[in-house]
Formats: sequence, structure tokens, C-alpha cells
Amino acid sequence: SAKEAGRNTHRFFDERMNADAIEHLSLRNDLRRALERGEFVVYYQPQLDMASGQVAGAEALVRWRHPERGLVPPGSFISIAEDSGLIVPLGEWVLHQACHDAAGWNAAGHQVGVAVNLSALQFKRGNLEDSVRAALHQSGLGAHRLELELTESILIKDTENVLAKVRRLHAIGVELSIDDFGTGYSSLSYLQRFQVDKLKIDQSFVRALTREQDSAAIVTAVIQMARSLNLRTIAEGVEDEETLAVLRSQGCDQVQGFLHARPMPVEDFREYLARRDAT
Ligand code: C2E
Ligand code: MG
Ligand code: MG
Ligand code: MG
Repeated sequence: SAKEAGRNTHRFFDERMNADAIEHLSLRNDLRRALERGEFVVYYQPQLDMASGQVAGAEALVRWRHPERGLVPPGSFISIAEDSGLIVPLGEWVLHQACHDAAGWNAAGHQVGVAVNLSALQFKRGNLEDSVRAALHQSGLGAHRLELELTESILIKDTENVLAKVRRLHAIGVELSIDDFGTGYSSLSYLQRFQVDKLKIDQSFVRALTREQDSAAIVTAVIQMARSLNLRTIAEGVEDEETLAVLRSQGCDQVQGFLHARPMPVEDFREYLARRDAT
């Protein structure tokens, strides 16, 4: 009967919620120990300069080498780490690791930068300025080789406080970019106030670029606006040649996506750089 079906659906839903809650709890407990046990690893995805075809840098993307679950993607644990506050020490660890690795690439003769994702909580809680200075100092990486990726959600809350912090980061000489641009609330006045250097066009627009007119219009508008404000643009989620061609014709500065390379362990990225230099 309909009543029974309703009851079954309800039970199924309860069980699933329960399983999700248990999964969430177990990940949260494991997360706390994972940092001490050295289970996190940073992968790097190349960012290519459109005009020269050269590797301009790489985005640092964290993964968790879980002893039982294998390689866990950030989508499964970053929000849990944010809820528990663990994102602050985890983000700091990623920052140090990325600076250390990038200093190595530059010492080997590759002039490339590294981009690190920042969570809103790192901005609010941690002493970001000191962390960034320490990571640069300890690794020997030049400040201009480090890019910090902010999200629009960081910029809209507690604006005065955030603005002061952004200014101090600027003073160090690092680059600032806005990640997933177009999905949040950024207005033109924010871009001007925060003096960011670069916009990362969200992959949801990039991946639909050749299929949906609205996405194409948004990408075109972002690139044109960025150019008139003297900001650089990078498109992420570039998966095919057709999309690359459209982005090139519109004057997008850099690309990042599976078309060129997936995120990879640091050893593979070092080989990738060496191979590209040889050809
Ligand atoms: P994000 O910063 O926007 O990073 C780009 C994501 O898009 C990465 O997923 C990357 O693997 C994926 N991607 C790149 N090119 C393509 C493509 O052509 N096609 C498709 N389908 N995907 C592509 P990933 O590594 O799973 O990271 C997901 C998100 O987790 C990141 O999105 C970022 O928001 C967060 N994240 C990763 N590492 C960190 C970190 O160290 N700290 C913080 N706070 N967040 C991080
Ligand atoms: Mg990012
Ligand atoms: Mg992004
Ligand atoms: Mg994203």
C-alpha cells in the first residue's frame, strides 16, 4: 500500500542518515590523528600560460592517505576539518609543504609558482601573516612565487578586518587570487578594494562553455571585466581542445584542467617539469 511504501521510504531515509552520521563521526575522529601521523599529502596540478604554453605554476591540492580507505579526496574531509577547526593546522601544514616543494622546483631551475587554497577559518582564526612569512622564510621561496587562493565567502564577511589582513598579505609580496569566481557574491567594488591579482573562473562555467550560452556569456564577461581592471584570469576545469580554443580567442591568461594534466604527487610533478623542459 501507499502507507507501507511511505513507511519504507522513511525507514530507508533514516538508515541512510544514520550511516552518513556514523561515517561523518568516524572521519572526524580519524582526522584528528591523521595530521600527527603524517597521512596528508599534497598533489600538484599544472597551470599553463596560454601565450607561451609554459608551465606557470601549480595548484596545491591536499589528499588524505587513509590507512583503510585509501586516497580520500578533499571534498570528503575539508568541510569536516572546517567544522572541527582542524583546517587551521592542516592548512598551515599544506602552506609549508607547498612552499618547500616549490622552492625545490625553483632551485632545480624551473621558474614556477605555487597556489595554495585558504579556508575562511584560517583567515579568521590563525595568524595568517606570520604563517605565510614563516613558510617563505623557512623554505627560501620568493614571495612572488606564492599565490593565495581566497574565496568570495572570505571577502564578504567582517570586511574591515579581512581588508586589513589582505593588505598585510599584499605587503609581503604574495599574489592573491579569487577561487571559484562567479559562484559567490563578489561585486566589482570588492575586486577594487581588495586589490586581488587574479580571478580563477569557476569550472562549472568553463566546463559548460561550449554547450551552454549562459555559461559562455559569463566567461566572456569575467575575462573582459578582468582585463579592464588589469587582473589576470585563469580558467579551471579545461577538459577539451574546443574549450581551450574559445578561452584563447577571448584572451584568458592561463588554463588548468584535465586536458593538460590531473593533480599528481610531487615526484610526478618534478618529472613533468623536467620532461617539458627537455622538449
Ligand atoms: P578548487 O580549489 O577549486 O580546486 C580545483 C578542483 O578541480 C580540484 O579538485 C581539481 O582536481 C579539480 N579539477 C581541476 N581540473 C579539472 C577538470 O578539468 N575537470 C574536473 N572534473 N575537475 C578538475 P580536488 O583536488 O578534489 O579539490 C576540491 C576542492 O577541495 C578544491 O577546489 C578546494 O576548494 C578544496 N581544497 C583542496 N585542497 C585544499 C587545501 O589545502 N585547503 C583548503 N582550504 N581547501 C582545499
Ligand atoms: Mg583552488
Ligand atoms: Mg576552484
Ligand atoms: Mg572549488
